[in-house]
Amino acid sequence: MTVSRRDFVKTSVLGAVAAGVGTRAQAEDAKPSAGPQEHVSQENQSQTGSHKRPIIICANNGYAYLDDAFAFLKSGGDTLDAALKVVKGPEDDPNDDTVGLGGIPNEEGVVELDACCMHGPTRCAGSVGGVRNIKNVSLVSKAVMEHTGHVMLVGEGAERFAVAVGFPRENLLTEHSRKVWLLWKEFHSNEDWWGPGLADPHWQAPDSGNGKPQAEVWQERIQNLRTRAADLGIEPELQMDAVRKVLFPPTGTIHCSALNDKGEISGCTTTSGLSFKLPGRVGDSPIIGAGCYTDQDVGSAGATGSGEENIKVAGAHTIVENMRHGMSPQEAGMDALKRIVRNYNGDMNKLRFLDMTYYVLRKDGAYAGVSLWEGYSKERPHKIAVHDGSRRAEVTVSLFKGYSQDFPPAPNVPEEVKKEFMK
Ligand code: ASP
Repeated sequence: MTVSRRDFVKTSVLGAVAAGVGTRAQAEDAKPSAGPQEHVSQENQSQTGSHKRPIIICANNGYAYLDDAFAFLKSGGDTLDAALKVVKGPEDDPNDDTVGLGGIPNEEGVVELDACCMHGPTRCAGSVGGVRNIKNVSLVSKAVMEHTGHVMLVGEGAERFAVAVGFPRENLLTEHSRKVWLLWKEFHSNEDWWGPGLADPHWQAPDSGNGKPQAEVWQERIQNLRTRAADLGIEPELQMDAVRKVLFPPTGTIHCSALNDKGEISGCTTTSGLSFKLPGRVGDSPIIGAGCYTDQDVGSAGATGSGEENIKVAGAHTIVENMRHGMSPQEAGMDALKRIVRNYNGDMNKLRFLDMTYYVLRKDGAYAGVSLWEGYSKERPHKIAVHDGSRRAEVTVSLFKGYSQDFPPAPNVPEEVKKEFMK
């Protein structure tokens, strides 16, 4: 293993905000293996005023599941059940590594999931955090809502509750996610005993890149990581993807809000949280008022992105309250984003490491998708998926021009290498 933690830190010189170096989550692009072709509309119809009911909005990794959920909602299905139908899709899909089965694990290699839901008509809520071994945590959050007098269960207690009400315990760490985690461990191994040691013929001193052009150093590092990926048994066609996930750890989540023709509205959010997070870390997704909030009188909102930041502005609740006081969905979402900016006094040197997307649905069917930055890169803008009779993905409206960077800071891979590598 030749990429050391020291090298990694040394080469993490930061690029300019607008330089388009964003590499954050793959989640919004995640598709089920046999998913339908996505219809992407550049026009955000939230601005041209689509006020249709019924309607479902969600993060773009729910796109493939919208048709079924919309048919269910249209035929009289409950709004929360419709939203759960959407998010269950990625939870069940082992290839979506941002939620449920196959989610990228925590730093100890254990998948820990968070979810919550709110049912507008009954004004009830349920939530679970840090759950291991149970795939459909969104449904567990609904079970907490229906079968207990509590709103939130966490950790082992949540898992035991899930088993008690009939959810199967299963291993959520797919072989692929386990190998990506192992590769990540080895990449960060200069200060521990993971990865091949001094006796390995390919071992190189941490400073061995010195003097060489950065592009060459990085090409070598990527190649070495790829060789390690092969040694770990990652299939050839997945090796580069694994290397990308190690260098630029994905994040991801899915939120969904559903509104029927009677004006009933519900929402839910589910996630595996930040890749390689500390065990026990819970983000915004299961926090009622942060990752999701629904008020039958007003509307529903949910979030994907930097969970820690969203908790501090109680994003989803702030948005719903903003709409209650007369703001449009887009204004309401933008205001919440500005509160995140305010928390850093507008310091772009910090804000470039954050990102946030809000999905906002008002009771009359008006909606918006807003984000702090434009996306991961020019080719991969943030999107909101919508179904109001026609299914589409729409590019979100962003507060800032440009693309966010990962935090912890991703290595500064030279542009020419990255272009090739990120294709
Ligand atoms: N918000 C999620 C969390 O912080 C991550 C994400 O949406 O990418 O756990």
